[in-house]
Amino acid sequence: MNRFNASLASANVSHIDSSRGAATPAIILGLVAALVVVFALLVMEKSHNYIANADEEMHEANEANGLAANNGETFEWRMVTSWPKNFPGIGMGPENFAELVNEMSGGRLVIHVYGGGEIVPALGVFDAVSTGAVEVGHTGGYYHIGKIPASPFFTAVPFGMNAQEINAWLHHGGGLELWRELYEPFNLIPFAGGNTGVQMGGWFNKEINSLEDIRGLKMRIPGIAGEVFQRAGGTAVTIAGGELYTSMQTGVIDATEWVGPYNDRSFGFNEVGQYYYYPGWHETGSNLEFDINLDAWNRLPEDLQAIVEAAARAVNQDMLDEYTAQNAIVLQELIEDGVDIRPFPDEVIAELKSIAMDFYAEEAEKDETFAHVYQEYWAFFEKLQVWHAISEVPLYLNRDN
Ligand code: CA
Repeated sequence: MNRFNASLASANVSHIDSSRGAATPAIILGLVAALVVVFALLVMEKSHNYIANADEEMHEANEANGLAANNGETFEWRMVTSWPKNFPGIGMGPENFAELVNEMSGGRLVIHVYGGGEIVPALGVFDAVSTGAVEVGHTGGYYHIGKIPASPFFTAVPFGMNAQEINAWLHHGGGLELWRELYEPFNLIPFAGGNTGVQMGGWFNKEINSLEDIRGLKMRIPGIAGEVFQRAGGTAVTIAGGELYTSMQTGVIDATEWVGPYNDRSFGFNEVGQYYYYPGWHETGSNLEFDINLDAWNRLPEDLQAIVEAAARAVNQDMLDEYTAQNAIVLQELIEDGVDIRPFPDEVIAELKSIAMDFYAEEAEKDETFAHVYQEYWAFFEKLQVWHAISEVPLYLNRDN
């Protein structure tokens, strides 16, 4: 008998003396049962507190990470773009994105899309989203080369990656993380937002037979390609797409690049441009972007963030599919219309490439961030080139002869 039972026994000794033998085990059992109940209640209370604490901790952690649970709250965003409203391909990307997000979220995140110039200038998208004037934008990274010299690596750079390669780098080669680091100081989080595939060299109202012919030529050509064009002796300007037809028609510019057959015919460049040159050495697979204001992003519950991410990824692939199909279809029509389609002379391409490579090296000397992005981009690109040299390249050469 332990001390506990001994004291019980002595407490009961005076008045239950006669029934002592039978009563003691019953009382002990009763007390043990009561203790078990009390203990169980304590455990339940403790585990309840534990769950409540865990819930609270998770909630706090989510808040710290900017993640909020879905509590049915609805959100309404404005999306500005650099393209005319509903423009084929690039202009439909943001429309498709908004529709997908709306459907997938059951209307919990509604996005209103505005064309370039409707509420902010076509080339003012980056600033509008960065300052939080609007929540999201769809644009091209190379338009903000003035703020971020390395931004064109995430759109297109001369003699760079094609669409398949840039998607590989962004989503499976560390590119996206690097891109997000680059935009973070501007309070933005970027997502790949569609790709045009390799572009055409552009529409020229002067024949290009040698590099001499570029001297004095005024061309709309943005990003690093514009810098290269300047070094080749030309004058590079960045003009929003919607103004290009008139600029070509009135002779404000002698040449313009835009995208490729599908989009170039939408703008009617075949009516104002004499020669249609290829290839698009300057835009080898232009990746567009959804830029989301970081505060707006952090306010979204986790499930809406996942929906936004998935919708962007779907639109990214769909746009490339559309361009690949439509460029092929419209090219056929341009050929039938008798458009003068011609390649740049090999020596012109070789010289432009040499100028581009010098530019990268010199810019890397001047700007540490540019150097870092350039090295990361090129290191992955070289791996892709070795692989594609025994896969895509010989396939094209052998298959299409
Ligand atoms: Ca272009």
